[in-house]
Amino acid sequence: MKISIKSIQLIFLLFCFSFTVSAQYQQAADTKEKLSFTNEKPYSTVKVNPVKGKKVKNVILMIGDGMGMTQISTAWVANHGALNIDNFPVIGLSRTYAANKLITDSGASGTAMATGEKTNYHSVGVDVQGNPLPSITDLASEKGLSTGIVVTCGLSDATPSAFCAKNPDRDKEEDIAADYLNCNVDFIFGGGRAQFMHRADKRDLMSEMQQKGYQVTRTWAETEKIVSGKVFAVLEDGQLPLAPVRGDLWQQASIKALDMLSQNKKGFFVMLEGSRIDDCGHWNDIPALMNEVFDFDQTIGKVLQWAEKDGETLVIVLADHETGGLTLLDGDISTGTVKGSYSTGGHSGIHVPVYAYGPQAQQFAGIYENTEIFQKIVTILNLK
Ligand SMILES: [Zn+2]
Repeated sequence: MKISIKSIQLIFLLFCFSFTVSAQYQQAADTKEKLSFTNEKPYSTVKVNPVKGKKVKNVILMIGDGMGMTQISTAWVANHGALNIDNFPVIGLSRTYAANKLITDSGASGTAMATGEKTNYHSVGVDVQGNPLPSITDLASEKGLSTGIVVTCGLSDATPSAFCAKNPDRDKEEDIAADYLNCNVDFIFGGGRAQFMHRADKRDLMSEMQQKGYQVTRTWAETEKIVSGKVFAVLEDGQLPLAPVRGDLWQQASIKALDMLSQNKKGFFVMLEGSRIDDCGHWNDIPALMNEVFDFDQTIGKVLQWAEKDGETLVIVLADHETGGLTLLDGDISTGTVKGSYSTGGHSGIHVPVYAYGPQAQQFAGIYENTEIFQKIVTILNLK
């Protein structure tokens, strides 16, 4: 029998394809073991109605990157049926698709929420033609409000970039890092020092930020001591470590930001991101995911207590998209046992939940485009 080169190529391609498919199923099967979480994390209850009036002075936007309904439900079971997120009285759903792609990324979705415009996959802070768009932080700062960005990823990563930088390509991280010199955000906390210091153009953006009037820090001990003025805290070369190593660092930094930004009588807007929830989704790693969601939820607890005391603060918790196509297959609330399965190493296209607490929270009920997040905040804070 004569076998042509073409048929050998075809057989080879089929072999590669079936190997890839079975590897994917193997990976999915690996996550289906039952996992028990015995250390119950504390949670607290806040008053459903903390409202002094209808006025909103401050807006806290908390983004769980890649945190869909299943990530929250799974953490709820793993934490024995209790999370701080259970406190939210108003729930909505956000449609996440990008201008040119159903399955979005943090760049396009972050831009939609930060600027009110759907843009292309992988763009940050620009429209579909690549024109720069004013972000909530730009508008808030023009109106005299204080602003903040507090994340666990690098500051030139997609979500924080969408609130400060303007670039059609999120991978141009050195250019994006340089945009921090122009976006006038008052409290900046995260990782990604390499993009500010070890650059092809040899610029030292840490020094340039200092010359701009920022108190530049590299450790939490230095950051903690600051009581007023502008802060640029970049604690790692890359991302901040995962929750088990990071501890309550992001939680502390978030509350520090609220305490400092609230010194402004006009109010503030802050974006707090649990960035690494997304990484765990990409890795299809449920135990790591639970640790990140628990840290996010612990911070929600602290933030809600802060907002309850203040009475003029609106807290919004949401996701930019879901990551991993996670399914909760089984579990036990009493033992904190969960069994889940992932369907992808990328993002999925499902609507994501929006939770709101405080004055004007009811504005976030319903089903809407992710761009509406921007519109609602701009209206509530009277930014335009
Ligand atoms: Zn992602």
